[in-house]
Amino acid sequence: MDPKTILKSYFGYDSFRSNQEEIINTVLQKRDCLVLMPTGGGKSLCYQIPAIAMQGTAVIISPLISLMKDQVESLRINGIEAAALNSGNDFSADTVVRRKCLDGTLKLLYISPEKLLAESMFLLRNMNISLFAIDEAHCISQWGHDFRPEYTQLNILHQEFPQVPIVALTATADKITRNDIITQLQLQDPQIFISSFDRPNLSLTVKRGYATKEKDNYILNFIKARPLESGIIYCLSRKTTEKIAKFLSEKGIRCSIYHAGLTQHDRDVAQLRFQRDDVQVICATIAFGMGIDKSNVRWVIHYNLPKSIESFYQEIGRAGRDGAPADTILFYSLADVVQLSQFAKDSGQKEINLDKLHQMRKYAESNVCRRRILLNYFGEQRDYDCDNCDVCENPPHRFDGTEYIQMALSAVKRTDESIRTATIVEILKGIASPTVRRKGYNQLKTFGVGKALSTNDWQDYLLQMLQMGFIEIAYDQSNIVKITDSGYDILYGRKRAELCELDHTVKETLKPKRRLHLQIPTITIPGLPETTGVEDKQLFEALRTLRRQCADEENFPPYIVFSDKVLHSLAMIKPTTLETFGYIQGIGEFKKQKYGLRFIALIQKFV
Ligand code: ADP
Ligand code: ZN
Repeated sequence: MDPKTILKSYFGYDSFRSNQEEIINTVLQKRDCLVLMPTGGGKSLCYQIPAIAMQGTAVIISPLISLMKDQVESLRINGIEAAALNSGNDFSADTVVRRKCLDGTLKLLYISPEKLLAESMFLLRNMNISLFAIDEAHCISQWGHDFRPEYTQLNILHQEFPQVPIVALTATADKITRNDIITQLQLQDPQIFISSFDRPNLSLTVKRGYATKEKDNYILNFIKARPLESGIIYCLSRKTTEKIAKFLSEKGIRCSIYHAGLTQHDRDVAQLRFQRDDVQVICATIAFGMGIDKSNVRWVIHYNLPKSIESFYQEIGRAGRDGAPADTILFYSLADVVQLSQFAKDSGQKEINLDKLHQMRKYAESNVCRRRILLNYFGEQRDYDCDNCDVCENPPHRFDGTEYIQMALSAVKRTDESIRTATIVEILKGIASPTVRRKGYNQLKTFGVGKALSTNDWQDYLLQMLQMGFIEIAYDQSNIVKITDSGYDILYGRKRAELCELDHTVKETLKPKRRLHLQIPTITIPGLPETTGVEDKQLFEALRTLRRQCADEENFPPYIVFSDKVLHSLAMIKPTTLETFGYIQGIGEFKKQKYGLRFIALIQKFV
């Protein structure tokens, strides 16, 4: 079968997302590749489809048992032979899996790195391996936040199995990690695929100036406004998770706690109850996350400021993996900044961690589109606003700042991009500091052109320019400022840009953020009227209940049966025949046969 047919018949989707098809074809040509895609971007299909299309068994290396379990269940429910080998298996289950590996009936084998190393001489040698996929490949890098020493031994893959292609996948984008993955896995002339890191379905909001009590009440009202939607509250300390969970439980919200101080058993139970929708909310430290594939997390709240944008992005990324709208809220307070700065200073990598915190603060303090800041941080230059963050919705006052930006960029240019922000401000303000005099910057044409503005204004405008991606700071070259390509567009007058006025008054809205219209494409199904784009809310609830029943029967989490997005489509389109049911995106042949009649019978009551 060709990739497109597999996509439709096994996974129920009509079209590939960006890069997926190219990646799949590269793997099919047995070429190594490195795939960088945000959480929820659709990495799994990039190796699952080649695994189905190729002869033999694909070996997927995954760091956590819970991740493997989720993946295996999702594959099997789509009619694909998959299994996992890990320390969680009992002996007889292991034997069955091994037999299937040897006789080639298994299409995908998930395995932990420890187990892989142990098996490499025996089981793996006797199998017909189609490809290796390294999931969460950033775990190989010591620079990342999830370093796992076992991953560093994966260099044996190419040494022992030189003819088998490797596809490494991660949602961590930075260059150091990327190069680490390539060198350590010894990837051969790999094709590198970098997808946009944008997650347009996530709304972004920052709340400032909340006292603890107000914060708790805000959260309570927020959850009450979404009675059926699961979410995660991330806290800095274990104590806070317990405090907030107690508060919410007393108000009748079903919630669990998750942190590294609990026993493994208690953590597993908490995670399972959340995945199965037995509890609505999980109050967690950052210990909670990597093992979570739950696709219907509808919101993530940060009770405290995260320590870096990488962590923040990964944590909010756990919302809306199914592509339906999801909300994220970050509470920002001075107390957090003080505490986190202290942590950073006491850490082994003081400079790096302080800088990461600084970037995080910039996001929280920003008065330009927050998504632009995030994307710029990941190296994606974006020249339009997102319309789905609090700044875009409540815009601060802006003016055409092209001339100011040109003044600043020209100061950078005339000093050969060799100075830091403080010196730029001195030049603009016409301050003859020792550095300025020593270097003769007081002779520049730009010297003093920005006298009329205050130092604070200039600092803030430089911050905004950094946020908008017109300049970059070379942290490896004593923080000197460099002009980006989009900066040159402004400097040479090819584009104009706005700046925000400095405004220190805090504007806040207490009401929950407006929901984006559900992004379900209008589809015309033969024999059904065209969809109106409006879903039947009662039907949606009934579908949720049925999904829950089906999931319980087989001991699956509900989202494995159908994603929220599929339920929304069903509640909108209301198909009443098996054929039309199968047109819904995300319903493949196997699920259609397995669940079609039960769901159709329910839908019929609503038409
Ligand atoms: P990642 O591993 O990158 O976090 P997943 O592979 O779990 O993301 O995919 C996220 C969601 O997107 C899943 O619900 C998946 O079924 C869906 N998805 C993946 N590819 C497509 C596609 N081509 N069309 C529609 N949905 C897709
Ligand atoms: Zn925005």
